[in-house]
Amino acid sequence: MVPYRTLMGSSDSTLPCFLSSGAITKSNQALFLHAYPYDGLMFETGAECVTCKVKKPARSKHCGVCNDCVHRFDHHCIWVNNCVGAFNIKYFLAYLFTLTSMAFSIAGLTAAFLIQVVLLSNLMQGHYTDVHGEEHPVDASFLIQHLFLTFPRIVFMLGFVVLLSIILASYFCFILYLVMTNQMSNEWFKPSRFKHRSYRNIYSRGVWSNMVEIARPLTSHIKKRR
Ligand SMILES: [Zn+2]
Ligand SMILES: [Zn+2]
Repeated sequence: MVPYRTLMGSSDSTLPCFLSSGAITKSNQALFLHAYPYDGLMFETGAECVTCKVKKPARSKHCGVCNDCVHRFDHHCIWVNNCVGAFNIKYFLAYLFTLTSMAFSIAGLTAAFLIQVVLLSNLMQGHYTDVHGEEHPVDASFLIQHLFLTFPRIVFMLGFVVLLSIILASYFCFILYLVMTNQMSNEWFKPSRFKHRSYRNIYSRGVWSNMVEIARPLTSHIKKRR
């Protein structure tokens, strides 16, 4: 596992891909075993991973792709080709934020270019003749058709980037919500929580503390010092 201090000191944009998410091995399992209490519903006391034979700390899960149990497992991301867990989720969040910002910036620049073309060519003051020979002032639908026929690649790209921006922003907001409520995607989607109507998230300690926990992941060692 990459040492904790190294994780905290790194700042490369490829961090979610290459940094350890928090792999649990027999030699370091004591570091994670008492970081979180077992809720007795999603995480049972004394559970052992059938694959790596380590004692499973609460909130951990075995990843079949990485072949490791991961501390505070979120999900295995095929996008960054790595697990997202306790130690790299903050970089994953930053990565998502930069991607979303970039998509919005490209959409904004492309839209600004098309608006500039419309304004400079005085298109909105023009008229067009329809198939029946009737003359109409330029409206929004004519304008979109005209732009699509004149700049097909640019208009198509704008539509694609706008769609991408919406998807990325929605996913970023979802991950941010999970961070603020101290939940991982793995826990959010676990069906066992929905079978128990009395389920309560015992890991949330308030929005600010939950966000600090992302920047400074809990281990048994850090928890004992509190
Ligand atoms: Zn395992
Ligand atoms: Zn994985």
